[in-house]
Amino acid sequence: MTMFAALFCGCGNRQNKSAVNTVMVNEFAEIMCRNDVRLIDVRTPNEFAEGHLFGAENIDVKDSLFAERIKGIEGEVAVYCRGGRRSLKAAEMLAKQCGTVYNLDGGILAWQKAGKPTTTVETDVFTTIGGKLVKLHALLHASICIEHDGRVIYVDPVTQLRGRTVDYSTMPKADIILVTHEHPDHYDTAALRQLTTEKTQLIMNPRCVELYGSGQAMKNGDKQPLAGGGALVAVPAYNTTAEHLQFHPKGRDNGYILTLDGLCIYIAGDTEDIPEMADLKDIDIDIAFLPCNQPYTMTPDQLVRAAQVVQPKVLFPYHYGETDVSGIPAQLPGFDIRIRHYE
Ligand code: ZN
Ligand code: ZN
Repeated sequence: MTMFAALFCGCGNRQNKSAVNTVMVNEFAEIMCRNDVRLIDVRTPNEFAEGHLFGAENIDVKDSLFAERIKGIEGEVAVYCRGGRRSLKAAEMLAKQCGTVYNLDGGILAWQKAGKPTTTVETDVFTTIGGKLVKLHALLHASICIEHDGRVIYVDPVTQLRGRTVDYSTMPKADIILVTHEHPDHYDTAALRQLTTEKTQLIMNPRCVELYGSGQAMKNGDKQPLAGGGALVAVPAYNTTAEHLQFHPKGRDNGYILTLDGLCIYIAGDTEDIPEMADLKDIDIDIAFLPCNQPYTMTPDQLVRAAQVVQPKVLFPYHYGETDVSGIPAQLPGFDIRIRHYE
């Protein structure tokens, strides 16, 4: 049941694009799962870090930059806060620029009272040239979930690592799964079985296809269009430090470049700053995931060098384990660097 609160904001009603729809928990749960709905948690970063709805972005309505940060958001938006008051204020502001705005009645308190799940997984949302949303969920270490236009793509889905767990039984099945290589922090047969249906396109490096007994192999340099649109390229990922060569020998493992509706995402896999990265400069990478842990991948200094070569618009350090990556932004002024809670 939608309760049309008819809360037009301000007095210049003619400028308002829509009313705020205050909805109950069950309806909100359906709305937030629809394609291209932006889900915004308007509580403080501390409240957000304790647990939030899966897929939510955090934009604190009490932050002085809130108005700035919601600029450019349009289409359907769903907002919530702790009890419903702060989000109503945010919803009124968003209603001036968005198609439809939904506000969760009773906030996350009502959500939890109804027995609905919360998560600590962080999500980043990007808009493609075609106006579709790409949602990147930072699941665990090297495990990423990507949603685009009704499709769900997993990269290296792994269930458990260093005390963190991802419950794939509560997550949508995969349309596409990409596996970079055979190490247990990337290749997890239990997760693969849980996410796969007969329609799932499972793409792995040749060694993983051999181990798993099915799937489609892509080797370094292979390219293919993706079912449902987009393109995929398998790129090299390997060690160059003499005493680390055995971890990821050249030619065996993959990184991937995934292009969705023009948005180009580079997932580097387990690699050091290899010379092949120089070729990526011409591709115009929008988003890059670069690994950072010794002795398997890069040091923070190597990651900085790799980022300077690849020149992504947005950089996600990932696969960083116990490595302190907090100093990386200071070394890359001008880069949009997002350190997410992967570990
Ligand atoms: Zn590895
Ligand atoms: Zn790894």
